[in-house]
Amino acid sequence: MKVFKFGGASINSTERIMNTKAILGEHRGEKVLVVISAMGKTTNALEKVVDAFVAGRKAEALQLFEQVKQTHLNILKYLVTVNWKKAEDRLKDFFMEVEWLLHDKPVREYDYYYDQVVCSGELMSTSLVSDYLNEAGIKNRWIDVRDIVRTDNNFRDANVDWQFTAQKFGELVYPLFGEDDILVTQGFIGATDENESTTLGREGSDYSAAIFASIGNAESLTIWKDVEGVMNADPKTFPEARVIPTLSYREVVEMAYYGAQVIHPKTIKPLENKNIPLEVRCFLRPELPGTYISSKPVHGLPPIIVLKPDQVLIRLNSRDFSFVEERPISRLHEIFHETRIRPNLLQNGAVSLWCCVDNRPEKIEKLALAASGIFDVQVEKELTLLTVRHYDEETISRLTKGKMIVLEQKTLETIQVLMR
Ligand code: ASP
Ligand code: MG
Repeated sequence: MKVFKFGGASINSTERIMNTKAILGEHRGEKVLVVISAMGKTTNALEKVVDAFVAGRKAEALQLFEQVKQTHLNILKYLVTVNWKKAEDRLKDFFMEVEWLLHDKPVREYDYYYDQVVCSGELMSTSLVSDYLNEAGIKNRWIDVRDIVRTDNNFRDANVDWQFTAQKFGELVYPLFGEDDILVTQGFIGATDENESTTLGREGSDYSAAIFASIGNAESLTIWKDVEGVMNADPKTFPEARVIPTLSYREVVEMAYYGAQVIHPKTIKPLENKNIPLEVRCFLRPELPGTYISSKPVHGLPPIIVLKPDQVLIRLNSRDFSFVEERPISRLHEIFHETRIRPNLLQNGAVSLWCCVDNRPEKIEKLALAASGIFDVQVEKELTLLTVRHYDEETISRLTKGKMIVLEQKTLETIQVLMR
């Protein structure tokens, strides 16, 4: 079995959906589990539906959802003609599930409603793509992944019950491969033991695909993206960015940790544990080799650049000149935990502690308040954090030219520079 994952951008128009046929057509006779995200920006649109609903603006919620419905119906009309009625009926079932809920009054927590509504994006996109492929001659079976992926009820960031999921995968998915070569299902979503829908965190489809690859002992996982492969910098900011042909799991985990938007950070572990190679390929140019990621260490990598704008530096100074030692430091870590802040950079000196975080005003305010018991707190905004792996002097001086450096941290492999 192979696992393919198509993200939202790879199915955001009729042409792009038709492109999945060409890609799958190249793999006739192979068993492929196809994991798909919601179309284009559907997840963002559905988030707005939830916001309106929870804020008590029911009419607005319904109207926003109507737009999402129409987008899917329009695309369906283009792509599915022969079995149009059946395809539309299935979409309508998903619409109905959401609309029923929107007609109620919100009584539970936001995150619960979020998952019940947002999961429809993946259900609709996969339903549509599966029906299109069947009509276009790529025979496949659609699966509701909520019958397989079991999670806890930590809505919006649900944790997967691997054992149950593996058992269901064995019971339901393997037998279906006996009948069809291609199975189409959703990424990003699951369900609790009470059949409530859950989601695994934004951009979680990569992770879903990795779970299936791992459980099903896949020969490989391919993530189809709108870029030519994993690049050493974001090509939107750095036109000279280039594709890296091979990478190690380790390097990809490091890149994700420092904020490179390559692959969902949770994706690598399940693959690494079973030594399943990950390919990142371009769905617009499937003839290109893309990036091949495996356990093999790769030498001679170019500088890999990650820029994080909108950073905030929080300076914590000890009040009475007492040293910043074990206790204040462990208290600070507790505060990070309580406020759900993950520092992007931490540095401590004798009587001060500096941390760089993403600009989340409410969280930072909470942190500042909690820390003010032991520290003097100063906050500086509008900074940029530059991280370069496999750095060289030329790259650093080019990227920091004309900037004021506020903080710098360096290991043999990685340099981080916080600048103004
Ligand atoms: N549709 C979800 C999101 O936009 C999951 C994904 O794309 O991986 O976050
Ligand atoms: Mg996506």
